Amino acid sequence: MRASNYHINTLKEAPSEAEVASHQLMTRAGMIRKVAGGIYTYMPMGLKVLRKIENIVRQEMDAAGAIELLMPVVQPAELWMESGRWEQYGPELLRIKDRHGRDFVLQPTSEEVITDIVRNEIHSWRQLPRNFYHIQTKFRDERRPRFGLMRGREFTMKDAYSFDRDEASAQSSYDAMYDAYTRIFQRLGLEFRAVAADTGSIGGSRSHEFQVIADTGEDLIVYNPDTQYAANIELADAPGLIQHRAEATQPLQKTATPNASKCELVAELLGVPLDRTVKSIVLAADDPDAPGQSRIWLLLVRGDHELNEVKVGKLPGLEQGYRLATEDEIKSAFGCPPGYLGPVQTARPVQIVADRTVANMSDFICGANDEGFHLTGVNWGRDLPEPAVADLRNVVAGDPDPQGGRLAIQRGIEVGHIFFLGDKYSKALNATYLDTDGKPAVLQMGCYGIGISRISAAAIEQNHDDKGIVWPRAIAPFEVVVCPMGWSKSETVRNAAETLYEQLRQEGVDVILDDRDARPGVMFADWELIGVPLRVTVGERGLNEGIVELQQRSTGQTEKIPADSALSQVLERLK
Ligand code: ATP
Ligand code: MG
Ligand code: MG
Ligand code: MG
Repeated sequence: MRASNYHINTLKEAPSEAEVASHQLMTRAGMIRKVAGGIYTYMPMGLKVLRKIENIVRQEMDAAGAIELLMPVVQPAELWMESGRWEQYGPELLRIKDRHGRDFVLQPTSEEVITDIVRNEIHSWRQLPRNFYHIQTKFRDERRPRFGLMRGREFTMKDAYSFDRDEASAQSSYDAMYDAYTRIFQRLGLEFRAVAADTGSIGGSRSHEFQVIADTGEDLIVYNPDTQYAANIELADAPGLIQHRAEATQPLQKTATPNASKCELVAELLGVPLDRTVKSIVLAADDPDAPGQSRIWLLLVRGDHELNEVKVGKLPGLEQGYRLATEDEIKSAFGCPPGYLGPVQTARPVQIVADRTVANMSDFICGANDEGFHLTGVNWGRDLPEPAVADLRNVVAGDPDPQGGRLAIQRGIEVGHIFFLGDKYSKALNATYLDTDGKPAVLQMGCYGIGISRISAAAIEQNHDDKGIVWPRAIAPFEVVVCPMGWSKSETVRNAAETLYEQLRQEGVDVILDDRDARPGVMFADWELIGVPLRVTVGERGLNEGIVELQQRSTGQTEKIPADSALSQVLERLK
């Protein structure tokens, strides 16, 4: 590729809404452009990264015996009604109507369609097992799209679905995917951890998330550096955490403080069991991703952490026939004035956190309709303030693991998720096959997702510095950039740069020649921002001495190498 024929448009400034490095840097490097909230155009260089990720994923899926197909983005509501998810899936499911008034959805995932395919295509045990996958656009109307590609509304996912005769064989399919995922993330060059994950409404113990380790991650991982143990904190059952939870869930003293009794009131009103609490983390009324259920998370904050920033959002409940409670109504329901749940000061205060900063909590803590009062509010549990996380870290670090060693907490970005489904969908959609005895039996399923576009952002969260992105080689938009100094002025430089560029191309290296005739400072800044792993600088003075300069993006180290061995030296570095 020649830079003069390519589209490179780097920016000095990141958009003000870009909170995390990947969002800032992908925008500044010209890899993505925002079209609407959570919806982006993948610009040429960004698309190149995605394609490289896709290719690795595709190769490993194929190697693991999965078979690629492509299911549609727009799916008929009927299938979603059959599975029950038309009702159950919350507002993340984008429902649309065609010109005839028929209902459709934009797929957030494809269990229904694949199960429909399989019930029509698979008849006999002889056709099993099967694992179908596709790499396709997903749409989830995330209530809070943010962080660029990390949490988009439209994003690219690889999703695979396995079908087996029985549980044992479904387990092998699951294990094969676990291994494939491990190879994928190794090849991507990312530091990651496979962690035990919550299986939500399906139950059982077979679910793992693949988490890229990064401080900006929205998930908390409890792990033991000395053993294999690693679990999403939602699931972690380390003794210290259990005790921590138990302490936090002791009956709240009605008389202790007015706030404490308020906790009870709130919990009672919500019917929220207080037993899922971790002392200073979230207490979930349910999984926010589990659709259609009450969407309240309470944050019980112990001790002296003040959570002064109270955030609220537009509430799903309020859109459906609720209005905001008046001050008098709140008073009579709670025996206290609105705004009462404000900044945390007491032993067991409650905060309800949603997503827009406002001054007065009463704006959202109560909704009222004809049936009475309802509390509404949302907290994904992902915005735990650092003091609360630090608190958790302490709890866990006093916590010897029964298996030996100590536990620790780190933040991660969920980039993959594998899930044993059993017969949840196959039963609902009546997907059966004829077994060896000639009788119909229900298929056992698993589903396996990888966030292709999220991986590009996660890679940056893990690998960047103050100059820009530091791509792992496997997914860098270009592996090598050749930077000629004085392109238009020196024929010697032009010839040397062209020659090296051609040679590298012939070796199959993904190389770009920066023939834009830009000043060295501009050129270097661009490529450091874009994050190309290797830079070869070709200048006249160097060439006169018989050398060119090689720089590794990751270390910043520069070495002078003989110009006539530049090709072999570059190839050596790329190994
Ligand atoms: P999260 O907990 O981050 O909302 P999820 O558990 O809802 O993710 P899954 O249903 O497990 O996501 O989907 C499989 C994969 O798709 C995730 O592991 C993640 O990598 C990716 N993914 C999910 N939601 C998004 C999104 N909004 N933007 C980008 N990638 C996403
Ligand atoms: Mg989600
Ligand atoms: Mg998740
Ligand atoms: Mg998940």
